[in-house]
Amino acid sequence: MTEVRVRIAPSPSGNLHIGTARTALFNYLFAKKNNGKFVLRIEDTDAERTSQAYIDNIFDSLKALGLNWDEGPDVGGPYGPYTQSERFDIYPKYAQILLEKGFAYECFCTPEELEQEKEEAAKNKKPYVYTKKCENLTEEQKAKLRAEGRKPAIRFNIQKAQKAFHDSSMLIFDDLVKGELHMNTDLLGDFVIMKSNGTPTYNFAVVIDDMLMKISHVIRGEDHISNTFKQILIFEALGAEVPRFGHLGMILAPDRSKLSKRHGATAVSEFVEKGYLTDALINFVALLGWSPSDGQEIKSVDQIAQDFRIGEISSSNSIFEYDKLNWMNSHYIKMLEIEDLKERLKPYLTKYDLSELTDAQYTRMVEITREPLTLLSDITDAVPYFFGLDVEIEPDVQTEVLDTDVSQNVLKEFVKQAENWDFSEENLHEKLEAFRGEFKEKGIKPKVTMWAIRAAVTGRTRGADMTAILAILGKERSMHRIKKAIK
Ligand code: GLU
Repeated sequence: MTEVRVRIAPSPSGNLHIGTARTALFNYLFAKKNNGKFVLRIEDTDAERTSQAYIDNIFDSLKALGLNWDEGPDVGGPYGPYTQSERFDIYPKYAQILLEKGFAYECFCTPEELEQEKEEAAKNKKPYVYTKKCENLTEEQKAKLRAEGRKPAIRFNIQKAQKAFHDSSMLIFDDLVKGELHMNTDLLGDFVIMKSNGTPTYNFAVVIDDMLMKISHVIRGEDHISNTFKQILIFEALGAEVPRFGHLGMILAPDRSKLSKRHGATAVSEFVEKGYLTDALINFVALLGWSPSDGQEIKSVDQIAQDFRIGEISSSNSIFEYDKLNWMNSHYIKMLEIEDLKERLKPYLTKYDLSELTDAQYTRMVEITREPLTLLSDITDAVPYFFGLDVEIEPDVQTEVLDTDVSQNVLKEFVKQAENWDFSEENLHEKLEAFRGEFKEKGIKPKVTMWAIRAAVTGRTRGADMTAILAILGKERSMHRIKKAIK
C-alpha cells in the first residue's frame, strides 16, 4: 500500500468521548505527517443504540477540535458510503465469499441452545467458546433446519483460517505502538459475522469497510486488541492485504479506574459547555500518550504534527489529570485576543443584560476579570456587580466590613469628596491614591480603605481592579451604592 489512509470509526451510541477524540487526533496526525487521508466512518450497525443526535454530536465535536476529515458521510469520497447502515447490501456478498472458500459456515443454533452451551461450560469451569456444532452440517440437515423455520447466522471458522495462513496456532502481528503481540487462536471460538437477521457484526463490518476503503493503518484503543486477531484472519481469508495496526493505551481517571461520568465530563461537548477551549482540550489529549521532543507542552495541532512519530507513542495507560487540563485551559484563555474572548464569554453571560454596557465598558470588564478564569464559565460568578443599579451584599461582608466604624467613616468621606470627581479611570486612579493617603495618615491601612469601597460597590471583599470597576459603573451608580451602604 502506497498511500497512507487512516480512519476514525465511532459508534454513535453516545456523544463523542474524549478518548475517541484522542484516537481521532492520533489518526489525523499520522495522516498529516504522511501526506495521507483521514477518513470518518460512522459505525451504526446497532440500530437500537444509534441516534441522529449522537451522529451530529460526533460531527460537531470533531469539527470543533479542528479534526477535519478528507472523506466521510457528509463530504463523500471515492469509497463511500461512509455510514455502515448504508452499506448493508455490501456485507452479505463477502460473507458469501467466505462461505464458498470454506472459511465460514451457517449456524442454526437458537439463542436458547447457545445459552445451554454457555451454562455447560460454566458448570465445567471452562471459558466458553462455540462448540462448532454446525460446522459440518450436510445440505440435507440444513434444509431440514430451514424447514423448521430457523434462519442461520454465519460464523467465521477461526482455526481453519489460522491453519491456512500460519504454521502454528500462534497468531503474531507487529503493533505500531506495542511491538509484537501474540495470541493462541485455539482459544478463540468461531464467532458470528452475519446475524440471522442479515446484519453484520462489528468485527466483520469493520474488516470489509477497512478493506474496501483501502485503510492502510488502523490506530485505535487497546481494548480492540482481541478483535484485531480475529480481524487479521478475516482479511487473510478474503485474500486482502492486512493493514498495519497500532493500539493506544487506555485513558484512566486519576484514581486509575476507567474514566467515567463520576470523575467529571467525558464527552467533548460536555467539556465545551463547561467552558473548556477546544484548543486546550486537543493540546491536552495529545499529551495522553505522546510527549514533545523539546519538552514544551503547549502546542497547536500543527506544531504537534511536525513533531509526531507514531512509534514514540507510549504503550502504557495515561492518567487524565483534570488539574492539568484546568491549568492548560487557563493558559489558553490568557492567550486569547480580547475580541475573541469577549465573544466566547457571551454564552456564559446570558443571565445579565449586556446592553447595559457600552462596547468599551464590556471590553474593560473582560480585561480586568479575565486573569483568574480557569473555565470560560467562571465569568458568570465573577461579574454580577457590573449589572443593575443595586448590588447584593454577601452577609459576611455586611457584618465584617461594612458595619465597622472605620468603613462607615471611609464611605462618608468618599461621598463627600467624590461628588466633585470626574469618574474617568485615569482621574480616579489619581484621586483614590490621594484618598488612601489621607486615611493612611490617620492610621488606616490603604487595604482597609479600599475594602470599604469594594464592599459597598461590589458586595464582595475580592475582585477585579477597583478603580476600573468604579469607572465602568460610572459616578451615579457608584455613588448610589456607596450611599446605600452608609447607615
Ligand atoms: N466502532 C468502534 C468503536 O467505536 C471502532 C473500532 C475500530 O476503530 O475499529 O469502538
